[in-house]
Amino acid sequence: EKRESLNFIEQMIEDDLASGKNSFVQTRFPPEPNGYLHIGHAKSIVLNFGLAEKYNGKCNLRFDDTNPEKESTEYVNAIIEDIKWLGYDYGEKALFTSDYFDTLYEYAIKLIKKGKAYVDHQSAEEISAGKTNPTIPGIESPYRNNSVEQNLEEFEKMRAGEYAEGSCVLRAKIDMTSPNMHMRDPIIYRIKKVAHHRTGDKWCIYPNYDFAHGQSDSIENVTYSLCTLEFRDHKPLYDWLIDELEIFPSKQTEFARLNLSYTIVSKRKLLQLVNEGHVAGWDDPRMPTISALRRRGFTPDSLKKFAHKVGVARRDGITDVALLEHSVREDLNKKANRVFGIQNPLKVVITNWPEDKEEIMQAVNNPEDETAGTRDMPFTRELYIEQDDFLENPPSPRKWFRLGPDREVRLKYGYIVKCTGFKKADDGTIEEIYCEYDPDTKSGQDTSGKKVKGTLGWVSAKHAVEAEIRLYDRLFKTENLNTIDDDFINHLNPDSLTIVPNALVEPSLKDAKAGGQFQFERQGYFIVDKESTDDKLVFNRTVTLRDNWSK
Ligand code: ATP
Ligand code: MG
Ligand code: MG
Repeated sequence: EKRESLNFIEQMIEDDLASGKNSFVQTRFPPEPNGYLHIGHAKSIVLNFGLAEKYNGKCNLRFDDTNPEKESTEYVNAIIEDIKWLGYDYGEKALFTSDYFDTLYEYAIKLIKKGKAYVDHQSAEEISAGKTNPTIPGIESPYRNNSVEQNLEEFEKMRAGEYAEGSCVLRAKIDMTSPNMHMRDPIIYRIKKVAHHRTGDKWCIYPNYDFAHGQSDSIENVTYSLCTLEFRDHKPLYDWLIDELEIFPSKQTEFARLNLSYTIVSKRKLLQLVNEGHVAGWDDPRMPTISALRRRGFTPDSLKKFAHKVGVARRDGITDVALLEHSVREDLNKKANRVFGIQNPLKVVITNWPEDKEEIMQAVNNPEDETAGTRDMPFTRELYIEQDDFLENPPSPRKWFRLGPDREVRLKYGYIVKCTGFKKADDGTIEEIYCEYDPDTKSGQDTSGKKVKGTLGWVSAKHAVEAEIRLYDRLFKTENLNTIDDDFINHLNPDSLTIVPNALVEPSLKDAKAGGQFQFERQGYFIVDKESTDDKLVFNRTVTLRDNWSK
């Protein structure tokens, strides 16, 4: 592969392998199990697992579980399911930072013994007052120069539960004058008398992010620790800790996080949507979580293609959500069979068709895939078409190619029919329409020489299957939600879900199973929802057919 076509991380890896700086590629994906994974995580997963695949390396799945009050086994399991569904292999088992708590504790003792960490009994306010402004040197804690022996004793008391929560912390002793606030004696351990979802009550002190992440990378011999740009300022601390502890030199590299138009990618805010009932759960098909995208009909390939198209940048930007929709459309166009689904049925009576006659038409399953074959479609005297496909008085008659009085169309895979009349209710709604078919126009055997411009979908009234169709629109009406924080709830789109309760679909869908995916001709891609039953099929619309992606 040409160097120019590699992203900056691939270039760095290839340089390192060529120069012998590294001899292998070990990455990791490190989610905190405090919520479900979202599309932003998918980007990080594709990047980390994709690099391992490309360079014959390994990618670990490591749960960064150091905040017990927010974490749970439910989230761990959901995350594992998502990664497996995406099709990635994380080796024999998932790893957990909590499995390293003993080692991390030993690391802390090592720092204390080197005179590089101390127990600070100041309050949280006093500690932060000591580091308010990067241009003004911070104030040293009165506990900063306590002896190694005293610090060892007090840290042991912290671990033994002898101090109250919040009464003291362990801080690394670095540089209170540093312009980088993360280097001003950062807190590395705090007391939390909270049970952990894996270690139970074993610990009442927990390492914080900076004293867990890099150390876990090192324990796992991670050569490339990839994280989002917010962590750039943490890098000197990441390196300092590894140097002082004299452990495997993992290296952090930052890349731009994924931001998506009309979409929230923050677990905290997604949790709020769930908790406040704005959506039906983490996997509500309007959510940007991987589990919701799966339920909505996005495929693993579509998410991978999307991640590759977004690419890896060094600067933050906003990706158009239309690119995500484009990716799934492109994938399903090749994979999904075409069927007829009628959302707002209008009855058509073919008046010159015998009452009980049924004729089987052959419908092509997928014009993009010859191996997909054909299926049978019964054609009968009474059919349903889409209400939109009939207008009594089309506003621009010369551009209207669907049905209307005296107009002709082809019923796809069937015959050409001509509208001869209709029945109208007192309120003006069209109740049913009447047509005559031309027997010489059967699809594939047309001898009439007739040309029509419109081709409509249809289902046989006698054979049609009832279905509920759930149409989704964007969950938010605002394009850039990045700068909006607490009031993001005010930007919800009130029309993000429209339920079509009485749709009719063709009989081949009668036994469709949850997860089955189809293109409803002229409408969009649909997936059978998990709430579908034998009595009532339920379909989610994945995307419409209209592609708004241009580039
Ligand atoms: P959130 O802000 O939604 O809680 P997070 O970064 O705190 O996300 P983690 O579980 O810590 O969530 O993330 C696991 C990995 O996924 C991290 O390496 C993180 O950098 C990456 N990640 C999270 N969000 C994005 C995003 N929007 N784009 C790319 N990578 C992301
Ligand atoms: Mg995080
Ligand atoms: Mg977070």
